[in-house]
Order: sequence, then structure tokens, then C-alpha cells
Amino acid sequence: MNKFILLIGSFMISITTLQAQQTDRKGGDPKLTEQWVPEPKIVTPGKTAADAPSDAIILLGNNMDAWEAKGGGPAKWAMENGVMTVVKGAGEIHTKQAFGDCQLHIEWRTPAEVKGDGQGRGNSGVLLMGKYELQVLDSYNNRTYSNGQAGAMYKQLPPLVNVCRPPGEWQTYDIIFTAPRFYEDGSVQSQARITVLQNGTLVQNNATIWGGTQYIGISNYEKHPEKLPLVLQDHGNPVSFRNIWVRIL
Ligand code: MG
Repeated sequence: MNKFILLIGSFMISITTLQAQQTDRKGGDPKLTEQWVPEPKIVTPGKTAADAPSDAIILLGNNMDAWEAKGGGPAKWAMENGVMTVVKGAGEIHTKQAFGDCQLHIEWRTPAEVKGDGQGRGNSGVLLMGKYELQVLDSYNNRTYSNGQAGAMYKQLPPLVNVCRPPGEWQTYDIIFTAPRFYEDGSVQSQARITVLQNGTLVQNNATIWGGTQYIGISNYEKHPEKLPLVLQDHGNPVSFRNIWVRIL
């Protein structure tokens, strides 16, 4: 009996779908292509693109509470008036909270006093999931390998353009990151992807990340959790950060 009802039910649905399609083909009812559910959640935007929207998590405002040192304990970078600066030798810092797919806004500034060259000038990094480094570097009149300059996924993807501001000026990264997916056996189901706007200009366009970024050798993937903390790199240069916020996607 139940099977019979199911059969009749699916038959009726098919007829309705067919009728709807026919009406549609005649250009009949515009309502057929309207989608009402789900209704997008209301989010209050910031006054400018740099301001956190209402559903963002503030990672850096006036304090470093969202951060800790590698291995735990308070992050030992300098903090003054909402500006956090790398203290050489203090080591990388990471967020207490873990993230996977996300939208991330981060503002950074390389030292006004130019010291060193190449990779030694204003080097830091934004490591998504602590593994995939979007390079931070003073790349204003400072040639280095293209996939190692600011806006590059380190040793993988050069930025589409060099849109760096001069040293000492604040710059922005607006990042849309899709975490990699893994099968149970550790093989890659889908690679990580990244879109980056630097100072409002596209430098990475939904680019495929090859694996964890590394200094030497070819990148590859190793299975890891769906969410991991965000890491900022201590490369020995006093690079500063401010106004960091993230939206979980
Ligand atoms: Mg770096």
C-alpha cells in the first residue's frame, strides 16, 4: 500500500514538474525561477571595506587576547595602540581559535626604516591553517624571486601584480580561503584554494594551492584537521599588524 502511495506521489510530482517546465518554456510564469528559501542572513557591513562586518570575529583590535605563542602561553609580540609588531626571536604566534574556510582581513606594515634586501626586508607571513603561507614582504623596489614576494603563496604562486605600497605604509590583504579536503586514507579530495586582494587589487584569483608551503623542496599535502589556527610568522623583521578580522564560511 505504502509503495503504491509513493508511486502515485512521484507520478503526480513528475506531472507537476512537466507542466511547470512547459509553462516556463512558453515564457509563462516568472515565479517558477524565484528562489525564496533559504533567505540570506542579515549582516551589518562596516563603514568601509576595512571595518569588520557584524558577523566577523575580531582577531586583533586593541589587545592580543585572541593570540598565543607557539607551544602555548601569551604571545610575546609588542602591542601598542592597536598595532602589534613582531619581536625578533619571540617566534611565530597563532590564534587560539581554529579556522577552515574563511574570509580574512589583515593589515600589515613593513618597517619605514629599510634594512636588508630580498627576503631579508620586512619579511613575515600569514599562514592559513598554519601551513599555507601568504607572503608578507617589503616588495617595493626590492626584487626577489617572484613566488617569494608580497602577495605570493610562498614558493608556489607569484602574485598577479606587484601592488605594494612603500615601506612604512599600511597595506591590506583581503583573503578568501577554501581549506583542503582529505579522504579517510589521507589522500587529497580537493586542494586548498585562495583569492587575495592586496590593497583592493586582485593578486591571487581562486588559485589552487599545491600543498603546505616550504622553504626547500616540492610542496605536498599531509592530511590535517578541518580547522587549524591562523599563524603569523616571525622572520626576524619588525613587521606590524593591525585590524585583523575573520568570517567563518
Ligand atoms: Mg615570510
